[in-house]
Amino acid sequence: MSKILIIVETAKGNIVGITKECISTARQLAVDLSAELEGVLLGHEVADLAVEATKYGLKKIYKIDDPQLAGVNILYHTRTLEALIKELDPKIVIAGASLYGQELMPRLAARFNSAMFPSVKKLKIDGDELEATHALFEEKLFAEMEGGLANLNFITVASGNTAEAERDDSLTGEIAEFSPVIEDSDRREVFVEEKIAKVSVDITKAKLLVSGGRGVGSKEKFAIIFESAKQMGGEVGASRAAVDAGWVPYDHEIGQTGKSVTPDFYIACGISGAIQHLVGMRNSKTIIAINTDEEAPILEVAHYAIIGDLHEVLPELTKRI
Ligand SMILES: Cc1cc2nc3c(=O)[nH]c(=O)nc-3n(C[C@H](O)[C@H](O)[C@H](O)COP(=O)(O)OP(=O)(O)OC[C@H]3O[C@@H](n4cnc5c(N)ncnc54)[C@H](O)[C@@H]3O)c2cc1C
Repeated sequence: MSKILIIVETAKGNIVGITKECISTARQLAVDLSAELEGVLLGHEVADLAVEATKYGLKKIYKIDDPQLAGVNILYHTRTLEALIKELDPKIVIAGASLYGQELMPRLAARFNSAMFPSVKKLKIDGDELEATHALFEEKLFAEMEGGLANLNFITVASGNTAEAERDDSLTGEIAEFSPVIEDSDRREVFVEEKIAKVSVDITKAKLLVSGGRGVGSKEKFAIIFESAKQMGGEVGASRAAVDAGWVPYDHEIGQTGKSVTPDFYIACGISGAIQHLVGMRNSKTIIAINTDEEAPILEVAHYAIIGDLHEVLPELTKRI
C-alpha cells in the first residue's frame, strides 16, 4: 500500500496546530490514493508525543529519538529524514508551512530532485496528478500547480485553510523506531536555545471569536467585545485598526499581519472587511457581521449580517447565544 508521510512538528512538549491541519488535509488524499497515513517525529525524549500523534489518526509513527535532534538542527533533521524517506518510499511528504517546514522541505525536495509545493491552500488528486493551489500577494493571485504522482512530491500546508484534526482517545497506532543519521559535516548550524515570545492569548484555537474593529469607537468601549466574548465562552479578535489604536494587544490581531483563524463562529463587530483582514478569517465556519454600513465588504463573506449599531446589537445577540 502506498504511503503519505506527515512530518510531525512539536513545540513546548505539544504537537503544533499546523501538524493537525496537515493531517486533516492529508486524510482526503489518503482516501483518494488508498494510501496509509503515517507520521515521523524527530526530537529528544519524544516517546509520549509519538503516542499522542497516533490519537490524531496517524496509523504508524516513526520515532527518531536522539539528544542531537532536540530543537531545530535542520541539517541533522534533513539527513535523517532523507534516509527514512528512501526506506519508506512514500508518494507524498507533508509538513506545515511553518519556519521549520519551510526550512526543511525545500532541502529534502532538492535531495530527491522532486517537486516542491510550498504553502498550499488546497490540494486534490485528479487521476495521476496532484493539484495544489498556492496563494500569492494576499490572495490576489492564485498559482495552480500540478505534479505527477508517479514521482515523490513534497508539500507544505499553509495554516488557516482547514480545521485541525480532532484528538480521538480511542485511536491507536504503531510506533516504530528509526535511527538518526548524523554526520559531522552537518554540524554547520547548531541549535542553542528556543525563545518563545509570551502571548497573552492564543486565538487560533478558539471555537468562537468576537472580533472588534474601528467601529467599536474607543478603548473604553472595546470592553463590550471582551464582555460578550466572555459570556459566550469565546475569545477576542481584532482588526489592525483596533490594535494600532491601542485598544487591544497585538496577540488579538487577525489578518495578513496578524493571525489566521478558522473558528466555528466569527462575530465581526464594526469591521469593514479590508482584504488584509479577510485573509485571516474568511475560512471561519460561520461568519456573523454587525455593521452600520450595509455596503461594507465584510458582508460579502458573512453568512449572517445584522445592520445596526454594534453597541445595541451585540448585547442582544450575546443574550441569545
Ligand atoms: C500591509 C498591510 C497589512 C495589513 N494587515 C492587516 C491585518 O493583518 N489585519 C487587519 O485587520 N487589517 C490589516 N491592515 C489594515 C486594513 O487595510 C484596514 O485598514 C483595517 O482592517 C481596517 O480596520 P477596521 O475594519 O476595523 O476599520 P474600518 O475600515 O475603519 O471599518 C470600520 C467599520 O465599522 C463600521 N462601524 C462604525 N461604527 C459602527 C457601529 N457603531 N456599529 C457597527 N459598525 C460600525 C463601519 O461601517 C466600518 O465598516 C493592513 C494594511 C496594510 C497596508
